[in-house]
Amino acid sequence: TRVIKLKNRPKGRPEISDFEFDKTEVCSLQDGELLLKTRYVSVDPYLRGRMSDAPSYIPPFEVGKPIESGIIAEVIESKNKDFSKGDFVSGTLDWKESQVAKADGLHKVDPEKAPLSAYLGILGMTGLTAYLGLTEIGKPKEGETLLVSGAAGAVGSVVGQIGKILGLRVVGIAGTDEKIEMLKSEFGFDAGINYKTTENMTKAIAEACPDGVDVYFDNVGGEISEAALFNINKFSRTINCGAISVYNNTEIPKSISVQPFLVKKSSLMQGFIVFDYADKHPEGIRQLTQWLNEGKLKYTETIREGFDNIPKAFLELFDGKNKGKMIVKI
Ligand code: NDP
Repeated sequence: TRVIKLKNRPKGRPEISDFEFDKTEVCSLQDGELLLKTRYVSVDPYLRGRMSDAPSYIPPFEVGKPIESGIIAEVIESKNKDFSKGDFVSGTLDWKESQVAKADGLHKVDPEKAPLSAYLGILGMTGLTAYLGLTEIGKPKEGETLLVSGAAGAVGSVVGQIGKILGLRVVGIAGTDEKIEMLKSEFGFDAGINYKTTENMTKAIAEACPDGVDVYFDNVGGEISEAALFNINKFSRTINCGAISVYNNTEIPKSISVQPFLVKKSSLMQGFIVFDYADKHPEGIRQLTQWLNEGKLKYTETIREGFDNIPKAFLELFDGKNKGKMIVKI
């Protein structure tokens, strides 16, 4: 079966040459195990962190070993009483076309209830990140203003919609006019800012948020987030969810000091990792499913096809080629 491994630890922006396309044997099935065929692969910005060996909240990928990410797979053969041939499972699996895996950490997903790819996005890790990051740290209140960076992506597009459901004014920041238009017309955002064509982000945020920013859901870090700081309100909350704008940095960037801003405004800034809220995942999935079924929440996906295109789809995240969740269909 085909497998994609980490070839080199990237310096700066990852490239196709950092991945190795190889073949490997599929092991024989032991008791308790499943033979799986990969159907949908999630590519995510956080995988960039795992490609380097700096200590983080999940161990780095090893050079010469398969890369892994969120995958939806079909059970082809089962030696586990809880799973049958034809079931679909979701879990963190290797970038292999077929593989034998232990059942721990895998859970069944129902293609009758939602399209399979949705379990990697809106009903999976990114949906939970949006919901739990916003509610647990953002603690949004009706009438407040929510600013979201990376707003047209998998997490951001859901954050903004939840903000609207909860009665907030929602402003999104994204990298193309088409994305801004989508945020407003399809996802109900009140306003949007294209950071690539805006010279003065601080001023643009002030104009789009006339009452200031009460909750800032930060997916990108860097200069965009510095501009947000100039606009935060008293007792505002910032969710540090991600910092894609600096993931490929090779040098420590010169940045402004956040502390005076936080002090002046009695403002909270807190990091968020969705895996640290595992006890709240069932409740999150229940709420997201309910909103989806009620038609209050929508989602979009960018689907690439073909096993060999997994690394390319991953690299495209850094060029903003996706709207909503980036997924590869095998
Ligand atoms: P997205 O679907 O948002 O894809 C990434 C997007 O980032 C691109 O579409 C692009 O959109 C934008 N982007 C790329 N480069 C830059 C840049 N230099 N400056 C500003 N924007 C940029 O990915 P996800 O929704 O999966 O993830 C969003 C963020 O949330 C990431 O930072 C990720 O690491 C983080 N995350 C954190 C989790 C946690 O538990 N803490 C869990 C899941 C995600 P554009 O066209 O607008 O530039």
